[in-house]
Amino acid sequence: MTRRSLTILGATGSVGRSTLDLVARNRECYQVVALTAHKDVAGLAAQAKAFGARLAVIGDPALLGALEAALAGSDVQAAAGPEAVDEAAASGADWTMAAIVGTAGLKPVMRALEAGGTVAFANKEALVSAGALMTEAARASGATLLPVDSEHNAVFQCFDRARPGSVRKIILTASGGPFRTWPLERMRAATPAEAVAHPNWSMGAKISVDCATLMNKGLELIEAYHLFPVGAEALDVVVHPQSVIHSLVEYVDGSVLAQLGAPDMRVPIAHTLAWPERMETPCERLDLVAIGALGFEAPDLGRFPALGLARQALAEGGAKPAILNAANEIAVASFLESGIGFLDIAAVVGAVLDRYAPPAPTSIDEVVEIDREARRVAGEVTGKIRN
Ligand code: NDP
Ligand code: MG
Repeated sequence: MTRRSLTILGATGSVGRSTLDLVARNRECYQVVALTAHKDVAGLAAQAKAFGARLAVIGDPALLGALEAALAGSDVQAAAGPEAVDEAAASGADWTMAAIVGTAGLKPVMRALEAGGTVAFANKEALVSAGALMTEAARASGATLLPVDSEHNAVFQCFDRARPGSVRKIILTASGGPFRTWPLERMRAATPAEAVAHPNWSMGAKISVDCATLMNKGLELIEAYHLFPVGAEALDVVVHPQSVIHSLVEYVDGSVLAQLGAPDMRVPIAHTLAWPERMETPCERLDLVAIGALGFEAPDLGRFPALGLARQALAEGGAKPAILNAANEIAVASFLESGIGFLDIAAVVGAVLDRYAPPAPTSIDEVVEIDREARRVAGEVTGKIRN
C-alpha cells in the first residue's frame, strides 16, 4: 500500500481506538498527523506519543495545560479548544477518520470535507443533521467519502456506483438491540446498564442506547439516504439478530448482494483505511457452520417508535432530521443520567419534532442554530418529565 498521512477526530473513542489498533499493525503504511479528543488527556497523550503524531488537540480548552504537561519531552505539539479541533480537521491529511460522537463533530467534519482528501465517516449524527451540506462540500472539493458505519460500509461494498439506477432497494440490517424480545412493560423500567449492554457489538454509550431504541437504525436510514442516490422509498430495515449480514443491496433483476463479517468495527474501518486496496486484520473469521442459521424479523414499530420518527423526519425533510438528532442526544443523555425512563426517549423526540418546523438549513451555522434550539426545547420537555 502507498504510505498515507492520517488524522483521527475522536481518537480516544471506540472507533478511534479501533482505527489506531489497525494502524499499529501497519505502521509503515501510515503517518499520523493529528489526533483529537474531548476530555481524555491521558489517553490522547499516550496515543500521540506512541504513534509519533505531529499534533494532539483536546476539545476542552481548560485542559491545555494538562495536555502540555502530559506531552512534555515529546515532539508532539499540543492545542486545545473547538477551533483547534476544526483546524486539525483541515490539516490536509490524505485520510481523515471522522469519529467524534454527536453534533460536536459537525464543524470538524465539514472542515475535513472542504480540505478534500478521503474522509472515513463514522459520525452519523453529522450526516443526519447536515447531510445535503456535507455531500455538497465533498462534491465541491473532490473529497472521497467512505462510510465506516458497518451497514453503510456493507452497502458501499455491494452498491454498483456506476449504475445506481439498477438498484431497487437498500436493506439495512438491525440487531434489534438488547430489548428485541422484551415486552413493553419491562422496557419501561429498563436501566442505562441494561440499555448499553449490546448483544453483539461493543460501542460507545450513546450509540449503544440508540441501538436499544432502534433510533440508531432511524439515524442510519437518513445516513443511507445521503450516501446512496436511491431515494427514501427504496430504503428498508430488517431485524437480523445475529449481526452477521451487515446490509444488503437488491437489484432490479432480483439479485441481492450482501456483505457479511464478524461483528467487529475493525472490519469496516480496515476497508476504509486500505480502500481501494485491502489489508489484513486480526478479526475473527466467520464460521458459517458454527453460526448454523440466520434469522430475520420485521421491526416492531409499536415497541420501537424511534424508527418511525426517523422515517417521518426524513419524509418531512427541512430541519426535521437535525431536530430529531439533537432531541435524541438530549433525551439519551438524560436517560443515561437516570433522569428519564427508557420509553421517554422516543416520547421526547416525538414531542420536539411536533413542536415546530424551521426551514432547511443552508449553512453549517444554521444547522448549529437549529441544533441548539432543538436541544433547548428537548431540555424543557425532559425537565417536565423529570418533575
Ligand atoms: P465514543 O463515545 O466512544 O468516542 C467519542 C470520541 O469523540 C472520543 O474521542 C471523545 O473524546 C470525542 N468527543 C466527544 N465529545 C466531543 C466534543 N464535544 N468535542 C470533541 N471531541 C469530542 O464514540 P464511538 O467511537 O462509539 O462513536 C463515534 C461515532 O461513530 C459516533 O457518531 C457513532 O454514532 C459512530 N459509530 C460508532 C460505532 C461503534 O462501534 N462505536 C459504529 C458505527 C458508528 P473523549 O474520549 O476525550 O471524551
Ligand atoms: Mg451501524
